Amino acid sequence: MPFRDLVNQDHAVLLLRTAVRSSRVSHAYLFVGPRGVGRHRTAIAFAQLLNCERANSDACGQCRACTLIASGQHPDVRVVDVAGGRVLDPEDTTKTGIGIKQVLALRREVVYPPYQGRWKVYVLADAETMTTEAANSLLKVLEEPPDRVVIILIAESTVPLLPTVVSRCQLVRFSLIPAPAIERALVERHGVPKGRARFVAALSGGELGRAVRWVTSEETQQRRERILDLLERLEGADPLDRLDAAEEFSKDKDDLPELLEIALYWYRDILVWQQTGEDDRLINLDRRDRIVALAPTLSPALLNARIQAVEDAGDALERNVHPRLLLETLFLRIAPPPAPTRR
Ligand SMILES: [Zn+2]
Repeated sequence: MPFRDLVNQDHAVLLLRTAVRSSRVSHAYLFVGPRGVGRHRTAIAFAQLLNCERANSDACGQCRACTLIASGQHPDVRVVDVAGGRVLDPEDTTKTGIGIKQVLALRREVVYPPYQGRWKVYVLADAETMTTEAANSLLKVLEEPPDRVVIILIAESTVPLLPTVVSRCQLVRFSLIPAPAIERALVERHGVPKGRARFVAALSGGELGRAVRWVTSEETQQRRERILDLLERLEGADPLDRLDAAEEFSKDKDDLPELLEIALYWYRDILVWQQTGEDDRLINLDRRDRIVALAPTLSPALLNARIQAVEDAGDALERNVHPRLLLETLFLRIAPPPAPTRR
């Protein structure tokens, strides 16, 4: 995973490449930004560039060093990811974060020169979970850094970290990735059909990692299909069917935010189609035919009222309203207007 494979983190890449090219590699970096935007992948790409056997401005991605680093087997590139089960001190059974034993193990290791490569690289994921004791111990390394050692801390924010630790690291900021860049990456690198890539990119909230997990997970794809099928089914459902559907879909509370997002984009798509008739603006491009069929049957006022109902449900979710009650209210509110009765 060399730098050229990263999506949209040009600022971070430029900073790190320049450091290598000008031989001003810092002994400690703090990668700060939201999850899923490539912080960890950038750390690995940087470790590759530092140790690649054929590097110029980027790692080759092919040599022995690059391959070993990519597969997590390089003896000089070590990752501490407690949640992911990767630790330096296997005796340490702390599961909640980076404890003192991990940092003591790091301190024992860094005094030795690299075994195979040019640089030893330590990547500490979820650095905000470091205990104060561990952070104070790490500070000793940061204050007197050994030669040829780079420590990369990865965190979502600098706030939970000891200010003394932050001040000893070079800060590298990561930002959310714009939806069109995610869409392109899904199409070009993961072979996702354009319509689906558009939808996933819109839902991913700027997190490429999340988008990739969605497209590679059969389960997630089936869940989306199921939700879209439900929304279509609701068009013709009577109130009892709606209550049944609410019961069925309220079983997994964790899926509710996704259901609401999908519903929001669905009604938005129908509205957008009414106003523009342009494929390019649809998020659920893979269901274009259904959108086209539904558009003439629903008025803009009705669609806006449904979008409002979905947004209200989102607010209710944040207030911890019971999932079933929340969905019952929502499904009744997104009903089509009653057919005019004959007198
Ligand atoms: Zn290489």
